[in-house]
Amino acid sequence: MKIGTLYIVATPIGNLEDITFRAIRILQEVDLIAAEDTRNSSKLTAKYDIKTELISYHKFNEKRKTEFLIDKLKSGKSIAVISDAGTPGISDPSQIIVKECIKNEIPVIPIPGPSAIITALSASGLSTENFSFFGFLPKSKSKQRAFLQNFILREETLIFYESPKRVIQTLQNFLDILGNQQVVVAKELTKIYETFFRGTIKEVLSQLDETNLKGEFVILLEGAEEREISDSEIEKLLREKISLGLSKREAVKEISKSINIKKNRVYQVSLRI
Ligand code: SAM
Repeated sequence: MKIGTLYIVATPIGNLEDITFRAIRILQEVDLIAAEDTRNSSKLTAKYDIKTELISYHKFNEKRKTEFLIDKLKSGKSIAVISDAGTPGISDPSQIIVKECIKNEIPVIPIPGPSAIITALSASGLSTENFSFFGFLPKSKSKQRAFLQNFILREETLIFYESPKRVIQTLQNFLDILGNQQVVVAKELTKIYETFFRGTIKEVLSQLDETNLKGEFVILLEGAEEREISDSEIEKLLREKISLGLSKREAVKEISKSINIKKNRVYQVSLRI
């Protein structure tokens, strides 16, 4: 029996016109659409006359529904996975089903389209040559600060998704830990209130307040200048890790790995603490 195909279909991140002809055709032709939020996706399907049945597939039922979807694919049905916005799998469900399909030798076909990362980066004005994306940062302040320390020597553009509630706090943490770098805060991409706030972190912080912190946000940070790390910076990093409950030995290991510096150097600095 012929097996089905899984399509990973990118959908708009705001403006419903941002969808490809191919995506519409695939969504019309498949047997089922597994959607993160069927109510939300029904606006898109109504606009493009897509009559295919929508079933819910989100992070809370992803594992259970994957089994069901794999059975359908094995019985010859074709399925499209879509998320609320952008590309499935990018800070959204779909990884589990993609891995299962590969394991079961079921074809997986990507249908490319928008993602907030690339949309924000393309108009940010920051370097697009090298960049890294980290999804959502840890929510707790101490965990976020510890995480950001891994970036002090990173030279590429760093990209994060952030909730409007935490944009200011996150920028403040960037400032404390990474310095007054150039930053771009991209708000409500492709929508009516699309705005790019650009400048140093301090300048951007001065532009943001409760009135304009509504909607969806991507934060892009300029990479660090190429430089050597000082012993006092290493000491600061060690102290921060130790304050989070790591032993000295664990802190040395983590820092040398995350910033890519010799363990012995970090160890020598740790003797001062
Ligand atoms: N899969 C999506 C993608 O490909 O971009 C991302 C989904 S993730 C759950 C949602 C986050 O993406 C939002 O909290 C926000 O950080 C970012 N995002 C999505 N749409 C956006 C938009 N129109 N403008 C700015 N950020 C957006």
